[in-house]
Amino acid sequence: MSLDRTKLRWNGWGWAARKDELAARDDVWAFLAQALEMPALLATPPRPLDELALPPARLSLEDRVELGGIVGTSQIRDSLEERAFHARGRSYRDLLLLRNGEISPLPDAVIYPRGSDEVLAILALAAERNIGVVPFGGGTCAPPALRGDCASVIALDLTEMDHIGSIDPVSLTAEVEAGIYGPALETALKAKGLTLNHCPAEFEFSTLGGFIAQGDADWLISAKLATPKGLIEASTPELLALVKGSRGHLGIVTEAVLRVQPVAARHEHRAYLFANIGTAMAALRAAAQEDIRAELQLFDAEHTSFQRRLEGLGKTQSPIAKLAARYAKWRGFTEAPCLMLASFDGDNAHVAFAQNRFRHLASRFGVLALGQAAGESFRQQRFQSYYLRDSLLDRGAGLLRFELRTSWAKLASVYETCRMALEQVLSATSPREGAKGLVLGQLVQARSDSVGIVFTAIFPRAIGADLEQEEKITAVARQAITMAGGALQGADQAPQSETGLGGTLRRALKQSLDPMGVMRPKT
Ligand SMILES: Cc1cc2nc3c(=O)[nH]c(=O)nc-3n(C[C@H](O)[C@H](O)[C@H](O)COP(=O)(O)OP(=O)(O)OC[C@H]3O[C@@H](n4cnc5c(N)ncnc54)[C@H](O)[C@@H]3O)c2cc1C
Repeated sequence: MSLDRTKLRWNGWGWAARKDELAARDDVWAFLAQALEMPALLATPPRPLDELALPPARLSLEDRVELGGIVGTSQIRDSLEERAFHARGRSYRDLLLLRNGEISPLPDAVIYPRGSDEVLAILALAAERNIGVVPFGGGTCAPPALRGDCASVIALDLTEMDHIGSIDPVSLTAEVEAGIYGPALETALKAKGLTLNHCPAEFEFSTLGGFIAQGDADWLISAKLATPKGLIEASTPELLALVKGSRGHLGIVTEAVLRVQPVAARHEHRAYLFANIGTAMAALRAAAQEDIRAELQLFDAEHTSFQRRLEGLGKTQSPIAKLAARYAKWRGFTEAPCLMLASFDGDNAHVAFAQNRFRHLASRFGVLALGQAAGESFRQQRFQSYYLRDSLLDRGAGLLRFELRTSWAKLASVYETCRMALEQVLSATSPREGAKGLVLGQLVQARSDSVGIVFTAIFPRAIGADLEQEEKITAVARQAITMAGGALQGADQAPQSETGLGGTLRRALKQSLDPMGVMRPKT
């Protein structure tokens, strides 16, 4: 395993030793309390692991011996830390439960296989002995270890299957085991001048198997799926469709062949300011439809202003910054300016060409270019929001993210409807009369027909009724998104349908690959 798990938080995000600079500053908390209209944000520490009573492990001695015969006894682990780390994923709701000490259900043991053959043997044994199996990669989106009707449940942790079989720089392919962490895979590819170029917000602590089992994975050429009934070698479109997004219900992705690409010679990140959300949205759409080769992220006025005020805390404005502010005011950027981050990748000529085209396009919408330094600084914060969520939880505040996609035609109304619904439910569920939440919007992954929206909600926690608060906010957000005509994305995607012909097909598939129902048992 490329990463030392003992150094990760069992009830939070990422490295336990990582110090959040912002979280240590009183002025930040005073600013946030004021923004949420709370008198103060008080410390709300999580319960430590050694205070918690764990349910006894139910794996029988006989099953343990059989499993040991397959993987070796050192690969079966059931310490307090192991079981707690594998109890559930790292969604906001998961963290509320873990921090509160509500860690059941727990896996009875964690098994670390070291190859496809071992995985196949474990799944065959699980079907024979009625042992539930929960596949586990990095655990960022892992399901709870439910036992269902099984006698016991094991977490099958793939992270010791992280071998790179081959990297072919001529054909631009890589053959890799599925338990490899995203950063380890990228490091190996970069050494050969290649990249997978798949970088979700959870990238740092996610595995290749998780990317495939949870997402679209359009770079997947072929994959091995170990099921309780045997191995599927998927390379045709219909079999690959079965593997992608299968979320561990049918089997375990053990190995994959990936389509990779050369690392771009140059990366440049630049920041731009638009006078308001209307012109910024129009510029983003024009860039997507005129096929400008850049990755664009647009921060709405609330997000831009929040970020700027946070960054400005405790700093006196330099003479240059004062001049820049005066210039922006003179240009009419007084109302609710929105920041756009543009990343350009490619060889020198491509980057220069794309930048030129973008500058010309953006000037039609009255853009103010902020330059490369501002772009780089925003870019560096891209993996920070999950750490921020932990710091907020420690100080009586919560953070929820909602991802959706909508057509350009519906964008304005979907954006407004969802923002308003979120603002209302954050106020309605706040623990104090008059307190409110912040809704920070971001537009991402613009295509010619549609665009993604990410809403980040920051709000005062209703301590003691946290779970109900999360349920209400999530229900209102989902309803607003679907009623306005948006489609939920990522972790907010609707669960796979159990009804209609689609449901019949899914059940038939499950029945033929996992007839005993040991893969991810239900409650
Ligand atoms: C519903 C949902 C949809 C998402 N869609 C996308 C998306 O489209 N694009 C994107 O970039 N990110 C998406 N994400 C985020 C993405 O899941 C994470 O970034 C990451 O890929 C999870 O990796 P992990 O190693 O932490 O997996 P884990 O959190 O450990 O597991 C995630 C899920 O995959 C299963 N799983 C893990 N490894 C294997 C394996 N080897 N074989 C079989 N099953 C396995 C687990 O049982 C669990 O159900 C989505 C998240 C969720 C919850």
